[in-house]
Amino acid sequence: MSTLVVGSIAIDSVETPWGKDPEAYGGSALFFSVAASLFSPVNMVGVVGEDFAFEKIDFLKDRSVGLEGVSVEPGKTFRWGGRYHENMNKRDTLFTDLNVFENFAPVIPDHYRNNEFIFLANIQPDLQEDVLEQVHQPKLTVLDTMNLWIDIKPEELKRVVSKVNVVIMNDDEIKQYSGLENIFDGARQIMAEGPDVMVVKKGEHGAVLITEDDLFLAPAYPIAKVVDPTGAGDSFAGGFVGYLASQPEINTSALRESVIYGSTVASFTVEDFSFNRLKEISREDVEARVNHMRNMTQF
Ligand code: AMP
Repeated sequence: MSTLVVGSIAIDSVETPWGKDPEAYGGSALFFSVAASLFSPVNMVGVVGEDFAFEKIDFLKDRSVGLEGVSVEPGKTFRWGGRYHENMNKRDTLFTDLNVFENFAPVIPDHYRNNEFIFLANIQPDLQEDVLEQVHQPKLTVLDTMNLWIDIKPEELKRVVSKVNVVIMNDDEIKQYSGLENIFDGARQIMAEGPDVMVVKKGEHGAVLITEDDLFLAPAYPIAKVVDPTGAGDSFAGGFVGYLASQPEINTSALRESVIYGSTVASFTVEDFSFNRLKEISREDVEARVNHMRNMTQF
């Protein structure tokens, strides 16, 4: 089944202890699409400026990613700059230049409105809600967000959270959103607002899946050298939703497997800048790591 993703498309400037890339193609929708399309078709909606080099994402056409929803507007593409410390879990945002993203008002092409899976990648919560109003009875809606929106748009975020099936947040975001120190309490409080499933990302410590009647702890796949963690969260979401959309049914075991696939895909993302590593891997590479993961966690 197909997934519709709406989010940012960016040219990032990234510095890590291993080097820099001042023109790293990224953004929440792009990282998600590169990851999810390893498993099932994706349709992307977003905006870029006239400086955006489409040849850098040409490979997405061979991976069944629809780009008809990407509009080109006069001006520059959204640019984000980040610097990581020795401890790659922490990063400083150096700048956020919204550019054409400032006036982004997602319009979902008619032939995307029946997509069964909807991923509301990290953008303003009122725009996320606007997307939900344009789609027709999806099978599953999944939302991601960031600390910025919890800070400056808490009411709008609460409204859209109450309307989706799955919320993905990292541990700090859950604490900030719920005001609770314990992530399990925080997750259950968010589920009381509407969502049936919470996925808590814990960076190098993996992820936790929480549903009404299940709790599942997934490790992160151990990587020798993390070069650039940018996009790990979005590609985790891509692996999670893309795999789930490839399954015949959404049930406990499919959800558990999806978290493992999300975690595994993110392990490729962080091995290089931008989606350089992610774009060169195949489904077989993912399966090899999933098997290894299965082996490492059995007892
Ligand atoms: P992640 O590392 O998965 O949290 O996501 C990194 C991506 O988020 C980068 O490629 C950025 O371009 C994008 N990003 C950063 N700030 C924002 C923002 N305010 N809105 C949308 N996307 C953003």
